[in-house]
Amino acid sequence: MRIGFDLDGTIADLDVGWLNRIRDLGTPEGEERSYYASRNKILDPYYLAAEGDDVFIITGRNPRLRAITELWLSKNGLGHLPIIFTGEMKVPVGTNEEFRHVAKGKAAALKKYNIRVYFEDNEIVVRALREALPEVVIVQVGSRIRW
Ligand SMILES: [Mg+2]
Repeated sequence: MRIGFDLDGTIADLDVGWLNRIRDLGTPEGEERSYYASRNKILDPYYLAAEGDDVFIITGRNPRLRAITELWLSKNGLGHLPIIFTGEMKVPVGTNEEFRHVAKGKAAALKKYNIRVYFEDNEIVVRALREALPEVVIVQVGSRIRW
């Protein structure tokens, strides 16, 4: 089976406060590199994969972060996994508009790579993907919604 995983907030931990500060500072490269280099792995995709499954990482991260992202994946034992960047952000970061934009890019990637199950932490993206691709199982990870 072909299984996909989001990266930020799903495989790597998320520090929303730090991300907001980076955005407010105008996204200085050094600060951004420090942020992405110091993430902790919170989920190993292999905990949720069977032998023979094809595992993909599908991320809305800006493609200019590819080098630091690949280095982080290598350091965390995931360097051999294919990583797909769904496209460059052209909308304000951290907004619902951004999340819907990310969802569109992810929906296209899930279709292109014939992903059957996808793990995602952002509830706006989860809702949009479930609506766009009812045939794909979109699993909500680490929801911030409290019941
Ligand atoms: Mg995420």
